[in-house]
Amino acid sequence: MNYIKTDILSANSFVKHGFAYLEGHMNINEISDSLGLKKIKTVKQVHSNKFVYLNDVNKFETNFEADAIISDLRGYGVGVYTADCVPIIFIDTVNKKWGVIHAGWKGTLAGITEKVSDYLLGELGCKSENIKVAIGPCIEGSCYEIGEEVAVRFKSGFDNPDLFLKKEEGKKYSLDLKTANTLQLRNKGITEIELVDICTKCDLNYPSFRRDGKNAGRMLSFVGFV
Ligand SMILES: [Zn+2]
Repeated sequence: MNYIKTDILSANSFVKHGFAYLEGHMNINEISDSLGLKKIKTVKQVHSNKFVYLNDVNKFETNFEADAIISDLRGYGVGVYTADCVPIIFIDTVNKKWGVIHAGWKGTLAGITEKVSDYLLGELGCKSENIKVAIGPCIEGSCYEIGEEVAVRFKSGFDNPDLFLKKEEGKKYSLDLKTANTLQLRNKGITEIELVDICTKCDLNYPSFRRDGKNAGRMLSFVGFV
């Protein structure tokens, strides 16, 4: 089985996670079977800041529209699909919560990572120092050009847009979504973050919407506690 794991999420053997490029015969059920997870739940992703708290097996039958899933159902996994967007996996092995976030530019602008963090630290009672995060392969800032209109929205929506929004003379703006989401986590006191240093547009082993268009494959980022 071919997928990336991170050191930060691998310390506990009951945590199963990975960033997998779904190609050829490998599929989501084979991944869950091989890891001892009964199922990996995904949602209909809509580039929003909506998340689902999956705390009941019955919710597996519902087709949620959301871009993040938080769970505490042991034995089950959750996942998001991406091709250039930022996949974020988080775990709290003390309070036993875990989940995934799909953050494209719209979700990032709408603060999805911030919103999920608030729910974990608020309603679910997690402590920021217990939360560990892995940010997987996604398009790098230098490869991700955006239009003026989108840049303006980021400038007005963030305190320090210069940290992730660049513009060279005569060129378009470039947007570093990985950094923007890392800042959202850090602003909530979540600092245990591992970044996978792979650009999906440059590395031909990964699906890239910007490179391949609508025919791009999808990467599955998943996590669950067994
Ligand atoms: Zn690149």
